[in-house]
Amino acid sequence: MAVIVKNLVPMGEILSKAKEGKYAVGHFNVNSYQWAEAILAGAEEEQSPVIVATSDRLIDYLGGFKTIAVMINRIIEHKGITVPVALHLDHGQSVEHCKAAIDAGYTSVMFDGSHLPIDENIRLTKEVKNYALPFGVSVEAEIGSVGGNEDGMIGGIIYANPEECLRIVREAGIDALAAALGSVHGPYQGEPKLGFNEMKQISDLTDIPLVLHGGSGIPHYQLKRAIELGHAKINVNTECLQAWTNAIRQVLENDRDLYDARAILTPGMEAVKETVKAKIREFGSSCKA
Ligand code: 13P
Repeated sequence: MAVIVKNLVPMGEILSKAKEGKYAVGHFNVNSYQWAEAILAGAEEEQSPVIVATSDRLIDYLGGFKTIAVMINRIIEHKGITVPVALHLDHGQSVEHCKAAIDAGYTSVMFDGSHLPIDENIRLTKEVKNYALPFGVSVEAEIGSVGGNEDGMIGGIIYANPEECLRIVREAGIDALAAALGSVHGPYQGEPKLGFNEMKQISDLTDIPLVLHGGSGIPHYQLKRAIELGHAKINVNTECLQAWTNAIRQVLENDRDLYDARAILTPGMEAVKETVKAKIREFGSSCKA
């Protein structure tokens, strides 16, 4: 039985509006609870809807689904956050994990069956969608393969097949589709090359909010084109991690005697907040709350 969460909204709601309004909502990965605070503060200052995401591989590290859902809700209350927030499971690795996230109060889950044969991917995604539906929880699916390294998971790029995209949208009834078209998790080697022709074809065929994984390090003109072609959600983790690490490295290098955790970590959080705000402005979702 899912818990009632008054502070969170289903992701599908904010993505439909974004697709219609030709902007994208930022999905930002949480790497500790202070990150959640920084992401929420950035979205509030920009008056933008936001997707607070936890990667399935970090759930234990963050204390489990229930702890995460309660903490995010409490932070929203405590900080007086008023913008729409969806709590999302990123790259859900099994139907059971997706169900556990829904039971804990998540308002969106991604079932990542991209490595499975297409029939199996559709069948399991549909099982997640059927479970999520009565709770009003949104479901994201993936076709093809995003390359790069995500929390230790390494993969190559495989372009999404348009027919498979259409099948999973129709047969599983999903709310958002991650169609891999050349993006990678982590830093890019050289300039990213997104498949815009294929993107247009998939967007026209499916007419569903598309999700761009590996949103860090993509030049503005390519992000703009991706949004024009139906991307309503852009996932960012690496740019926030790099900003956090650089800020903390500088603090530690500037004062080698420093040992106060708050003094060390606060500049890292400020750097995450500023990165979130900059991405929100780039995605065009400022003042869309
Ligand atoms: P980056 O780490 O490349 O920003 O990608 C994040 C992502 O796609 C999370 O699903």
